[in-house]
Amino acid sequence: MDNDVALDTRAVHSAREDLTALGVHVPPIDLSSTYPVPDVATGGADYEHLATGGALTQGQSGVYQRLWNPTVARFERALADLEDAQEGVAFASGMAALSAVLLACVSAGKPHIVAVRPLYGGSDHLLATGLLGTTVTWATHGEVAGAITEQTGLVIVETPANPTLDLVDIADVCRVAGDVPVMVDNTFATPVLQRPLALGAAMVLHSATKFLGGHGDLLAGVIATNSEWAGRIRGVRAITGAILYPLAAYQAHRGLQTLPVRVRAQQATAGSLAQWLSTHQSVKAVHYPGFADSDPAGLVGTQMSGGGAVLAFDLGSFEAAAAVTQQCNLITHAVSLGGVDSLIQHPASLTHRPVASEAKPGEGIVRLSVGLEDASDLIADLGQALAHAVTTNTRESVRS
Ligand SMILES: *Cc1c(COP(=O)(O)O)cnc(C)c1O
Repeated sequence: MDNDVALDTRAVHSAREDLTALGVHVPPIDLSSTYPVPDVATGGADYEHLATGGALTQGQSGVYQRLWNPTVARFERALADLEDAQEGVAFASGMAALSAVLLACVSAGKPHIVAVRPLYGGSDHLLATGLLGTTVTWATHGEVAGAITEQTGLVIVETPANPTLDLVDIADVCRVAGDVPVMVDNTFATPVLQRPLALGAAMVLHSATKFLGGHGDLLAGVIATNSEWAGRIRGVRAITGAILYPLAAYQAHRGLQTLPVRVRAQQATAGSLAQWLSTHQSVKAVHYPGFADSDPAGLVGTQMSGGGAVLAFDLGSFEAAAAVTQQCNLITHAVSLGGVDSLIQHPASLTHRPVASEAKPGEGIVRLSVGLEDASDLIADLGQALAHAVTTNTRESVRS
């Protein structure tokens, strides 16, 4: 949509401009696995165009769902609009999206990746195994420039990062990376709070499973980027086959309509909970970007417009962390985040289980994704769960 249209308006209307002319109010869902071709020569040309990463133009055949699907393309256009990107490319999951980007680097002869830890445990695992033919140098923000070689195809940054909500200065990483493209995992911030492309990033990655979908009922990933990169990773997607299922694309597109209100409401509650937790006697530390000590570089208010809706807190021991996650009632003990309902989990055991010991989150750390419930109900649930942690800690100290 036009640059002067506000984000909330775009979220509701993007990639729906043609619906009235179609005589419908919501996007049609196209589940076709194959599409008719008019004749061998035209069908062959369309196939060639799409399989090499081209985008469908008016009058062409989609040929086959793995190459193109209009419902997926709608979600891609809407997300690209929110991220101020030229294009979006959607995948069956966030990990499938990351895989396509890594394969594009490998096939371009630039298999070396510089990654700033911490990252989501699955991303860390994929890079650490080198399964797709990449090699990795782990770097802190300050080590990025020195880690780059002739072979470096990509710098990967996640901010706020999973699970301790560490913040990275995107513009500065882009500056030191120079000609090497930077990809920012924007899953935690969403385009509502942060738009990395405007800060110099070449690509934005989302696990759309999280805030974009927002209701815990789909798996999806998406890359927002320029047309050149979009073509390359669409080509990888066509060959390797991880396109998003159109029904999930419809749901993710619908999710975008409420994204700004959900993120702002969940963020407000997360702020209240972080405040409350920071005064609780059993909580050793609270990691929340909205707190000054979690944001030494002052990036909230500049790079990111708020603290977000995910926080982590340290209970000092595995036993206390395990007790709290198990004792929550209203808050579900489960991985994932960004949905309308609050979820709590122990990263060292679950989401970050495959991460090497030197980069693993502490055993006392619990991650909380704050949903749309009333803050006082969430505080009541955490309060009774934390009472168990106190008992557990006391028992531990009596035993030792
Ligand atoms: C969940 C997650 C992923 C992976 O996405 P999936 O949709 O689960 O494959 C990547 N990055 C971050 C930050 C995540 O939270």
